[in-house]
Amino acid sequence: MAKKTTKIAELGDQPGKADVSKVQAYLERFGYLGARGEGFGAADFPEAAPDSPGAVLATARPAPGAGAYDDVTRDAVRQFQAFAGLPVTGAVDTATAAKMNQPRCGMPDAAGVAEFVTSGRRWATTNLRYAFQNFTADVPSNDIVLAIEQAFSLWAAHTPLRFTRVPLASGPEIIIQFVTGDHGDGSPFDGPGAVLAHAFFPSVPPAAPTAIMGDAHFDDAETWTVAVPPGAGTIDLVTVAAHEFGHSLGLSHSNVAGALMAPFYGGPHRAVEADDIAGITSLYGGFSINHAMWVHGTSVTIERDADVESVTRFGFFTRIVGKPNTTNWYHVAVPTPVIVGGNRLAFARAMLRFATGGTSAVVRDVHIYDGSSRIAAHQSVNLSGSQPFAVFGVAHKPDVAWGAGISIGVTTGPGTAAQRRIDLISAGIDFLD
Ligand SMILES: [Zn+2]
Ligand SMILES: [Zn+2]
Repeated sequence: MAKKTTKIAELGDQPGKADVSKVQAYLERFGYLGARGEGFGAADFPEAAPDSPGAVLATARPAPGAGAYDDVTRDAVRQFQAFAGLPVTGAVDTATAAKMNQPRCGMPDAAGVAEFVTSGRRWATTNLRYAFQNFTADVPSNDIVLAIEQAFSLWAAHTPLRFTRVPLASGPEIIIQFVTGDHGDGSPFDGPGAVLAHAFFPSVPPAAPTAIMGDAHFDDAETWTVAVPPGAGTIDLVTVAAHEFGHSLGLSHSNVAGALMAPFYGGPHRAVEADDIAGITSLYGGFSINHAMWVHGTSVTIERDADVESVTRFGFFTRIVGKPNTTNWYHVAVPTPVIVGGNRLAFARAMLRFATGGTSAVVRDVHIYDGSSRIAAHQSVNLSGSQPFAVFGVAHKPDVAWGAGISIGVTTGPGTAAQRRIDLISAGIDFLD
């Protein structure tokens, strides 16, 4: 059994050498102390290009006294506090120690840099292939495959990128592994808690990629889950995978607290935010939608009428009030331009416009179908309230075969009819040539 990582303690006026050393080790590991660029120690980790911001910052920083809470260490604590959105005091107070003890990504932070951060590293291709080296025993392998696909689809929804699962032997760009401790890339994992995962950036074009670039490693000493809410002490695989794939695509850590690319894990976060979208589109651009097909919310159909208290069709939406403590599926068939001008179209993403009466009516899952094939499953996204434009990507963007359907899984809790309502206003699909 892996040993629990020793916690960082709040430092008082006369901190002990051992406690200071733990803080210094944390700061060094995550890029706030010591030579920059050595934070992620794989032998073939891509070096920063001479003209990149990383290289400028690599000019030697003064070394701290080992175990001494000196000015160099205090400065590094200030940088960490600024990055993490804490009061910048230079003291390892309760909040700072707690933030350092929070589970997080193993990649270093780029301290002091605002908002999303890229390093010019990107793939030259938009058709990225991924494969599993192995699975964790914590989650059935079918669920792992779905979780990984959902994580990729968050990035696919806003870029020209396509993510296709292939056999390991075919030389994919992105290899997914569950490993523990020292696993041969110079950045050993640390047992349960603390570091959860890490991933390898692509190269700076035109430099050719190396084999390890794009790969994502998950610490199998964690207990992974796909359940939302996760059980005590378990970690949401979709959230961590989506974050790591941000690195696989060339994004560094963001200091925007709500961003998916913020380094700290605070529970399920199965969405990309404006900061993440700005970052990824700065690397890959958006995509031009060639065809968009939308339907009005009055066309929704209900899977189980028995679980519905009322359905009212207004001029501009359908209001469905679910019976208390039920789950149901509402289906929307989207007219699909399968072939246009002799070209077969491909799926890009789905969109929904809806509002619920609060957290008693929650859009739990959104599935996208092409005929009988489910081409995307967004599980446990748990959206409620006003959702003017919710986007759901399709990781591999397959060609259209039969015709699109969007299935909306809704959980209805207790509460008044007004709280249990969902107003479905519009739904649609974007297609690519
Ligand atoms: Zn990270
Ligand atoms: Zn690794």
